[in-house]
Amino acid sequence: MTERLPRTEPNNSTEPNDSTEPNDFTEPNHFTEGIRQAAAEWDTAGGPPRDMAERMAKAGLLGADLPAGYGGSARSALQLGELTAALGAVCTSLRSLLTVQAMVAAAVLRWGTEEQRHTWLPALASGERIAGLAVTEADAGSDLNAVRTTIERDGGRLRISGHKLWVTYGEWADVLLVLGREGDRPTAVLVETDRPGVEREPVSGQLGLRGARIAHIRFRDVEVPAGNRVAPPGFGLSHVIGTALDHGRFTVAWGCVGMARACLDEAAGHVLTRRQNGVALAEHELVRAKIAEMHLAAESARALAERAARLRDDRAPDAASATFAAKYAAARAAASVSQDAVQLQGAAGCAPDSLAQRFFRDAKVMQIIEGADEVALLRVAEHVLGGRRARTAPGRNPAGSGAAR
Ligand SMILES: Cc1cc2nc3c(=O)[nH]c(=O)nc-3n(C[C@H](O)[C@H](O)[C@H](O)COP(=O)(O)OP(=O)(O)OC[C@H]3O[C@@H](n4cnc5c(N)ncnc54)[C@H](O)[C@@H]3O)c2cc1C
Repeated sequence: MTERLPRTEPNNSTEPNDSTEPNDFTEPNHFTEGIRQAAAEWDTAGGPPRDMAERMAKAGLLGADLPAGYGGSARSALQLGELTAALGAVCTSLRSLLTVQAMVAAAVLRWGTEEQRHTWLPALASGERIAGLAVTEADAGSDLNAVRTTIERDGGRLRISGHKLWVTYGEWADVLLVLGREGDRPTAVLVETDRPGVEREPVSGQLGLRGARIAHIRFRDVEVPAGNRVAPPGFGLSHVIGTALDHGRFTVAWGCVGMARACLDEAAGHVLTRRQNGVALAEHELVRAKIAEMHLAAESARALAERAARLRDDRAPDAASATFAAKYAAARAAASVSQDAVQLQGAAGCAPDSLAQRFFRDAKVMQIIEGADEVALLRVAEHVLGGRRARTAPGRNPAGSGAAR
């Protein structure tokens, strides 16, 4: 799309809070230690209590990268990443609340009107209101160009009809950022969930993110003011949802960095103390090799996540592709390290309270959402080949350039 989207500049005037160094967030803080035990229970009992959002906000885990003028803490991308990893190391479901809340906030901050920013951003940063992202449909997953939800203009109002699937924290959400079509133009609109015609169907028993209060949501002729549209028709996917998904990939990547590290720590502690055949498991060379591979996977993922953070902080043009690369590598690291952690702990790794088994299931989901592994690979390849295409293969299109996520 070559057309430029007019927008008002957000109130970024308050200086970022640089008083805290990134490493302040690398050690588990009071909040994450406090939820360690409960996280395993939320996984089997269906999720955390609703007041967790406000407790997360008080601990600085919501609105971390929003400007102070909108109730945020104005942290850098690297600081946000470290916070996300610390939470991700304990509970993927709660980390997913940080992710969806921040995805919607990022889209509203970048493309919303000043009124939308003032209405929603402080409320999201304080945890007073919960946001959800409603884009997936039965026939629109990786390819979001296929969404069928309709948005019809009727005077000063918009009427929304459609069925969205798998909305993380959809059960709690006070507001949803919904992707639909206004005519043939992809459009994003904020829909308050207390409006007539919004119906939620809670989802349970899925592979991972069992505590993330997921719901499928139907919109039956739901009416909202036209002022709820975020950006003009036609910019909903490429700009508004694009910003949300990019932000989501960033925090998913860092959440996975935390998961991989936590699984390695748990497995290393186990093999050092568990004795079989008269020796600690850690004395077996095959076990040591696995520990080394787990460490390398976790550290490689962290290095790519740190690179993505630095590029985001520098507002570098490569930031989005670096974020894709980090998300791919970190989700794969979380999946492989959690699998190895289960293996090395044997039956203890399969136990109901095992962190590794919970993260093993959560990590698989991370390889599917915010751009499945294959889609991420195509985007990385497109970036790598992009600069060389004209010289080496003039006129050729990169494979997978049509993937929307
Ligand atoms: C726990 C959970 C939480 C979720 N939360 C949300 C949410 O909050 N909001 C929301 O809107 N959605 C959410 N989703 C939906 C999620 O975003 C989609 O599942 C995801 O985008 C993939 O879409 P799909 O499941 O339709 O898979 P499909 O698009 O049908 O893809 C299936 C598989 O095909 C392969 N594939 C797809 N495209 C390509 C390609 N171009 N090249 C090669 N292989 C490809 C991949 O292996 C992929 O996993 C959630 C899903 C889960 C499971």
